[in-house]
Amino acid sequence: MSLSTLASRIGFLISHTFTGRALIPTRFSSTKMALESYNFGPYKIDSREVFYNTNLSYALVNLRPVVPGHVLVCPRREVKRFVDLTVDETSDLWLTAQKVGSRLESYHKATSLTLTIQDGPQAGQTVPHVHIHILPRKGGDFENNDDIYDALDEKEKELKQKLDLDKERKDRSLEEMAQEAEEYRKLFL
Ligand code: AMP
Repeated sequence: MSLSTLASRIGFLISHTFTGRALIPTRFSSTKMALESYNFGPYKIDSREVFYNTNLSYALVNLRPVVPGHVLVCPRREVKRFVDLTVDETSDLWLTAQKVGSRLESYHKATSLTLTIQDGPQAGQTVPHVHIHILPRKGGDFENNDDIYDALDEKEKELKQKLDLDKERKDRSLEEMAQEAEEYRKLFL
């Protein structure tokens, strides 16, 4: 092998090795969330909808929010009922909800939070995967404070009747949801 061929082969190896080294960590950190996959009951959640995660839980923006900042916190494992979560999952889920709730309350300049779980179909659960609804609240956002629960029910009825989530999105586009999630991600840096 001539000296120049050898040099060019070494050059090739060096440039590929360094490119590989330089690229992998950068791509990994900037798209770490994008590489993860999330299930929400039967639905595959696009990672652009997810704005915060831990080893056991994740937080996503809502397809049909009832108030600005209405998001969901879920266990990563697909579990239908609250009672079936492990101790670690339960604790992590609520700690995540506490953190997410406090950041979103200030982001939306709200003054209170409604945190709620509809645990089972007769309690109004439409997606069979435990999730805590987090709803930033402001004075006067509903004429009667507890009307928020009726609003939750209404949205979900509409969703069940009109929307096949895998085929179409009638309310919010993925782009809109991704943009919102991008804003929220900055709250956890
Ligand atoms: P629940 O009726 O308590 O099970 O709540 C289901 C919630 O999930 C509602 O707030 C829906 O708007 C929301 N939702 C359903 N599918 C999706 C989805 N693919 N991405 C984000 N939120 C969703």
